[in-house]
Amino acid sequence: MILAVIRLWAIMLFAAMTVSCGLGASDKITKVSQIAMGTLVEVSAVGPPSQTKPAIEEAFNELKRVEALTSFHKDSGLTQINNWAGKADAKADQELIDLIDVSIKFAQLSEGAFDPTIGPIARLWNFSGNDGPRLPGSQEIEATLPLVGWKLIQTDTQNKTVSLPEQDMALDLGAIAKGYALDRAAEKMKSMGVKSALINAGGDIVAFGVKAPGKPWRIGIQDPRNPNGMIAVAEINDRAVVTSGDYERFFIQDDKRYHHILDPKTGQPAYGLQSVTIVAPDGVTADALSTAVFVLGKEKGLALVESFPEVYSLVIDSQGSIAMSKGAENIFDLKH
Ligand code: AMP
Ligand code: MG
Repeated sequence: MILAVIRLWAIMLFAAMTVSCGLGASDKITKVSQIAMGTLVEVSAVGPPSQTKPAIEEAFNELKRVEALTSFHKDSGLTQINNWAGKADAKADQELIDLIDVSIKFAQLSEGAFDPTIGPIARLWNFSGNDGPRLPGSQEIEATLPLVGWKLIQTDTQNKTVSLPEQDMALDLGAIAKGYALDRAAEKMKSMGVKSALINAGGDIVAFGVKAPGKPWRIGIQDPRNPNGMIAVAEINDRAVVTSGDYERFFIQDDKRYHHILDPKTGQPAYGLQSVTIVAPDGVTADALSTAVFVLGKEKGLALVESFPEVYSLVIDSQGSIAMSKGAENIFDLKH
């Protein structure tokens, strides 16, 4: 139901729109919105439209290219690896192998709170499938948990293969691929000469340059229990801002909220936090850490964030209380 509403909203906004506004030609902002990676993506770029328009088009192409590499549901480079699980080593593009290696690094650093082998458990809950989520039985979950374990993944850069040793194991890069796609799209725009842009994929953002001289990009952080409310604002340039929240994909049954961020140790949704926002130098780090911190919880999660240079976090716990990592008070301007 909730997913259907979100989808309808997205479709209504689909009509790709281009808005140009601003002062001189060099600080005009061109905005284009399209559906990509299953969400509404808005790209804003500052500069003469003759430069920004083709760059924005290429940014969307880049998002679609990364989706074709990493999608869990559509036929992709990733599903080809998953199809060979338990059978043989699967051939994969170097780019995908690199992203899997980065995922393994975050799994290691988070002690398995972020785990790209969550696929079989994610399939049981089906939060990202087209036919809607379901509540799996505890026996199903217990029987599936042995298929989750990032240490089982083997990547081979020389032979360009990835191996998942057990049948029905499956990689799910849903917690990192969007951040990666945003990074690639931003790089593409920079390579085409754009000095300043913001890419917003359903609230997950990568921005570079400034909106106007002396004006950084301003990002609103959503109140997890009020879709129209803002809890904080972050002013950024050359940064990614990614949020993982229990309000993004969820259902409520018998007064209990079940959502899409899963604890790889239990196979159940991770409880304790409502949302985690990460500000980091790049989208991959922000995306992987937002999920890892959500699963780790406030204390362990913020400690992990503080082990990274230039990474900051704001978390909201199940009571609605806000906590931040060291230095984050300089990034987030709280609204209350
Ligand atoms: P995010 O919204 O970035 O936190 O990513 C959530 C998505 O990543 C889910 O829809 C799943 O596909 C996948 N996922 C869920 N739990 C985990 C986890 N603990 N580690 C890695 N990926 C996960
Ligand atoms: Mg994430």
